[in-house]
Amino acid sequence: MNAPHEAFAHNVIEALQAQAEEFIAVRRDIHRHPEMGYKEYRTSDLVAEQLQQWGYEVTRGLGGTGVVGQLRRGHSSKTLGLRADMDALPIEEATGLPYASCNAGIMHACGHDGHTAMLLAAAKHIAGNVQFSGTLNLIFQPAEEGLGGAKKMMEDGLFSRFPCDAVFAMHNMPGHPQGHLVLRDGPMMASSDYVTITLDGKGGHGAMPHQAADPVVAGSAIVLGLQSIVARNVDPQETAVITVGAFNAGVANNVIPQTATLSLSVRSLNPQVRELLEQRITDLAHAQAQSYGVRAHVAYQRGYPVLVNHLRETDFAREVAEELVGAQRVTRQGKALTGSEDFAFLLEQVPGCYLLIGNGDGAGGGHGACMVHNPGYDFNDDNVAIGSAYWSLLVERFLKD
Ligand SMILES: [Zn+2]
Ligand SMILES: [Zn+2]
Repeated sequence: MNAPHEAFAHNVIEALQAQAEEFIAVRRDIHRHPEMGYKEYRTSDLVAEQLQQWGYEVTRGLGGTGVVGQLRRGHSSKTLGLRADMDALPIEEATGLPYASCNAGIMHACGHDGHTAMLLAAAKHIAGNVQFSGTLNLIFQPAEEGLGGAKKMMEDGLFSRFPCDAVFAMHNMPGHPQGHLVLRDGPMMASSDYVTITLDGKGGHGAMPHQAADPVVAGSAIVLGLQSIVARNVDPQETAVITVGAFNAGVANNVIPQTATLSLSVRSLNPQVRELLEQRITDLAHAQAQSYGVRAHVAYQRGYPVLVNHLRETDFAREVAEELVGAQRVTRQGKALTGSEDFAFLLEQVPGCYLLIGNGDGAGGGHGACMVHNPGYDFNDDNVAIGSAYWSLLVERFLKD
């Protein structure tokens, strides 16, 4: 890092700090009015109005409530996408904060209010102060929490209508010091699949098992057999999780039920391991069921894919991070997480990088180190300036004149 960069980065943070109060107010306003996935009507209105006001060309309706704000400058054909998510969670807020949710049972417990505010703060600063050449696409997506809003936006032509040479996204993370930036190339977040195994046996009297085909015994063998996939089929140096979260069968002690159902959560950090898990789970369920004389139906539903950060874009994002906050506040290669994130869909089509910004231990309202998705969680407002400064510097560097 050389001196002019240091001076510049300092200026960016100062400039974004100077307007932080305005966007902390925006963050708290969004926090107070959380909306569930695909129902971000008020939030997307707010986003669209602000972007328009600063001269962005605004397109709405991608993925339902998604918003894209586009700003073109200069003659370069370079294109860049930055993504924020807007949806909240079905959680009853327990923070007691003055700006706590006024929508019963809905809460911004993952900090998407903060992600939206950081990108809006950057949008205003960039429009007014940043010289660049190329096309900037600010992507505000709906329904990140399990409903695949990013994929929906892609199905509605996100990248054909708004081509991007690269895409970036940032998520807050409690437990890392406030404003600390964590990057990782390669797999960063897990794939998340759901499997329902239905076993069809033959019901009968509990006293006469020889005249029945018992799906409970077959299901028990399957539960144990599934664990051997992780232990015996997956490379010991890879990550895989198979959790049988529900096993439902029967109602009475003297009745052998006709059917049993298993519900599984399956995660991995490698697309090849994901393929292997799907194949082995399906094969094992069928073979085990057959060996017990019952029939298995396997419904394998693919959720979010493995989020894989691209090396070149991650290196670029690292450089920007170190330039902005200094090497001692950047983790260049952090740990992968077994949570999942639908930005993974975007990274399957366009190279890019997903990074974390530390939310600190105080989690905004002083509620202790509180993980996302907890009713006591709050986004750390001190990140509004740092996060938006990061986006501003990244735009300036990526679309340099
Ligand atoms: Zn979440
Ligand atoms: Zn989230």
